[in-house]
Amino acid sequence: MSEERFDAIVVGAGPSGNAAAYTMAKAGLKVLQLERGEYPGSKNVQGAILYADALEKVIPDFRDDAPLERHVIEQRIWMMDDTSHAGMHYRSEDFNEEKPNRYTIIRAQFDKWFSRRVREAGATLLCETTVTDLLRDIKGKVIGVRTDRGGGHIYADVVVLADGVNSLVGQRAGLRPELKPQSVALAVKEMHFLPQEVIEQRFNLKGDEGVVIEVMGTVTNGMTGTGFIYTNKESLAVGIGCMVSDFAETGTAPYALLEAFKNHPSVKPLLEGSEVKEYAAHLIPEGGYREIPEIYGDGWVLVGDSAHFVNAVHREGSNLAMTTGRIAAQTIIRLRQFRSDFSKADLAAYRKALDETFVMKDLKKYKDIPNFLHGNAKNVFGVYPRLFSQAAQNWFRVDGVDKREKERQIVSSFRKGRGLRGMIGDAFKLARAWR
Ligand SMILES: Cc1cc2nc3c(=O)[nH]c(=O)nc-3n(C[C@H](O)[C@H](O)[C@H](O)COP(=O)(O)OP(=O)(O)OC[C@H]3O[C@@H](n4cnc5c(N)ncnc54)[C@H](O)[C@@H]3O)c2cc1C
Repeated sequence: MSEERFDAIVVGAGPSGNAAAYTMAKAGLKVLQLERGEYPGSKNVQGAILYADALEKVIPDFRDDAPLERHVIEQRIWMMDDTSHAGMHYRSEDFNEEKPNRYTIIRAQFDKWFSRRVREAGATLLCETTVTDLLRDIKGKVIGVRTDRGGGHIYADVVVLADGVNSLVGQRAGLRPELKPQSVALAVKEMHFLPQEVIEQRFNLKGDEGVVIEVMGTVTNGMTGTGFIYTNKESLAVGIGCMVSDFAETGTAPYALLEAFKNHPSVKPLLEGSEVKEYAAHLIPEGGYREIPEIYGDGWVLVGDSAHFVNAVHREGSNLAMTTGRIAAQTIIRLRQFRSDFSKADLAAYRKALDETFVMKDLKKYKDIPNFLHGNAKNVFGVYPRLFSQAAQNWFRVDGVDKREKERQIVSSFRKGRGLRGMIGDAFKLARAWR
């Protein structure tokens, strides 16, 4: 292996690395993919919702054999206080379409399937192989990788770093800075197993229909973060995540937060009688547009989480990973046709192409949201959920108080809880960050 040369080396076999390796191998490039895990997916954690559009652009017929759990027909968004939740539900029969738009998946199975398709397309995969460093020529151009396998120097025209949120290889090589605690979330997740019919009954589902629930509110103890419950065929994925800096400042233990979430009166009945079989923790890069490092250089590109491509507002990550992997691969394929030396100047085409996609457009749109949330966490995740819950409870309780008086009480509770100037200020800051 040490003397063999490849057109491209892909580091990592998550969604971004698989999308890149598949696209290049399918186009006839000689691709080597290196994965530190025992098998693709063995190290990966995700909720997980799969966004079909991004995968369809890589493997149009993926529905034929991909291990999909349920297609999502209902989205619930809950704002919680300590004993209640106010929610928005959207359920539509239209989501029971021939080619559904969103699915729940189990990453260990999904990554294995994706990797099989990558190998069938012609790429070579080496598992249990950790890339430890990048090899450079005397001008500093990346020309290959060093691995933890004996004699592990492997050469290629270009290296695609798809090694996830920590991207130790990228950090060590000085391609990207260290993660900042205020830009990265730590999420903990459990898999709760229940009989299929119990899940369908509890969530009002039939066949392969699924529900996803996203949660915000006091359940994160005033920290910036969210919780989730996703329905699989015979399990529920239940998790919660908050910014690492908030965990450090408050001294909160992530597993204690998950316990409190599971015991919330709105959540507990959904999990009753379940058997917990898996517990996992993972980082999510949530700093947004301002944290995206340089994503290309002489002989290398960054894709997926390694380049901070996560849209935390919409809970999207794997689709950005697959899209950036595909666009990087397409750029490499095109450059190769023009006998490029994969210099930084040539690989700039990757960033240019990405700027035209939803990935950069969405991240740019929300570039100020992380700072807004960080600066207003106590209000967004504490004060407002409590006020909304009190208001809803007051409004729905029929207790002889006339409706005009109820309106007056609700307005007064918001004035006392946050103040008129505070609310106007928050609305203004949110509108400015959102536009
Ligand atoms: C709890 C949780 C829930 C989430 N839910 C969702 C969701 O519902 N929908 C969604 O779209 N996104 C979700 N995400 C985000 C999504 O998981 C990521 O955005 C996505 O996995 C990024 O893909 P990737 O290929 O860039 O990185 P990864 O999936 O992290 O893959 C990186 C791969 O590189 C390998 N690797 C790392 N270092 C090396 C090395 N030195 N040498 C060799 N191999 C290496 C790793 O073992 C891994 O297989 C969630 C994340 C978490 C943590």
